[in-house]
Amino acid sequence: MYTLTNPATGELIEEIPNATDEEVRAAIERVHRGYSSWRQRPVAERAKIVSRAAELFAERTDELAEIMTLEMGKRINEGRGEVGVVVDIFSYYGENGPDLLADEPLTIKGGDAVIAKEPIGALLGVMPWNFPCYQVARFVAPNLVLGNTILLKHASICPRSAAAIERVLRDAGVPDDAYVNVYASSRQVPWILEDPRIQGVSLTGSEQAGVSVAAEAGRNLKRCVLELGGSDPLIVLDSDDLDETVKATATARMRNCGQSCNAPKRMIVLADIYDEFVDRFTKRVADYFQPGDPADPETKLPPLASAAAADEVAGQVETAVRQGATLRTGGRRLEGPGAFLEATVLTDVTPEMDAYREEIFGPVALVFRAADEEEAIAIANDSPFGLGASVFGTDQERMRRVAGQIEAGMVYLNSSGGSQADLPFGGIKRSGMGRELGTLGIEEFMNKKSIRL
Ligand code: NAP
Repeated sequence: MYTLTNPATGELIEEIPNATDEEVRAAIERVHRGYSSWRQRPVAERAKIVSRAAELFAERTDELAEIMTLEMGKRINEGRGEVGVVVDIFSYYGENGPDLLADEPLTIKGGDAVIAKEPIGALLGVMPWNFPCYQVARFVAPNLVLGNTILLKHASICPRSAAAIERVLRDAGVPDDAYVNVYASSRQVPWILEDPRIQGVSLTGSEQAGVSVAAEAGRNLKRCVLELGGSDPLIVLDSDDLDETVKATATARMRNCGQSCNAPKRMIVLADIYDEFVDRFTKRVADYFQPGDPADPETKLPPLASAAAADEVAGQVETAVRQGATLRTGGRRLEGPGAFLEATVLTDVTPEMDAYREEIFGPVALVFRAADEEEAIAIANDSPFGLGASVFGTDQERMRRVAGQIEAGMVYLNSSGGSQADLPFGGIKRSGMGRELGTLGIEEFMNKKSIRL
């Protein structure tokens, strides 16, 4: 069942039954058939349609932001910002797609060759609820320009976002057999992947879903991109303006109510400024991030996406405290039907505690003390995840050196958790495989065909 429940109030708004197996099979057939004509369109035409989608996303910013606020409690201004990034992504691939797909000439022993950049077929996208528009954009924009067709299974709490995105694409001129939204259940995903008409899958979501989708993709020899969880470290080496550093790092952690895969979740602060950092950071989190109505532009901390998510995060905090962590502020699940949890800071988390290694997908920051740079790097890397990381400091060369030691797919210097259309995004270790966005994001489901001339 696709269920729309307002997480700010607990009100059930809409239920949509899952697609039947027959409906899913019909949708697979549509994108399979659609592929032969979509891929034949000149790339400039596909790119133009994708550029048009960017314009329509921009026009429908408020509508899309309001849907996200209702479905998963995103702050209305953050929703508008998210659609802005979606516009950038569709514009980027609309504009740069044709160049990125141009033949690559090769001089080889005894002659010449080219690498032609071709699509591979119909793809399945399985998407999460935390950035209902942006996540879809990262997968869909480059693949439509490339000539692949897409069957999209969105998160079951985001049926309206799913439908609104499909409407934008349709209105932009994407044929109704080149992009199909289907209200499939996650139980139908394995047999969709068994279907020979589907050539690959991109999943953004949890580690557990990643394990299951990767196993099915492997069994069926399908290409697979996995954008999974993270517990990103943020190292503070030093600061010439600690208040600014505290403000930036707290904001990055609490963005999207802490439900960003690449939010900095573990702050690692060098010993000489640790106490001062923790005091100011705790005060900032406690004073500034007060829970409120996500539809109100003044609100700083919205609800989590669902009551179940809020309960889970509150449980993780409780376990950490029971295991010996220090609760500096927050941790309380607010009473009432909304999915609210106070913004929380934990310190003294040690390797024996669950919180040390697991992803906490909510407004909870962990702060660690590191004796020196080496220990900071060691703590940063002592994680099953390897999505993003940040290094804050005043010495560019030192930060760059530290960045080189961190096991992650992305490192940001003096900034955190961002994403932009032209910067590749993705992780290593249990954060997944493959890249989205930028020049790399269009290559994942590409047939790089060698043609010897
Ligand atoms: P989730 O529960 O894994 O759900 C993501 C999508 O996968 C949903 O469409 C879900 O469908 C589906 N799904 C769940 N279990 C599945 C299974 N066994 N087989 C096939 N599909 C399955 O994740 P979430 O709670 O929505 O999202 C939060 C997670 O995503 C966090 O761990 C976060 O870090 C990660 N994330 C990563 C990135 C990145 O780029 N690396 C970006 C955003 C989020 P239903 O909704 O129907 O269950």
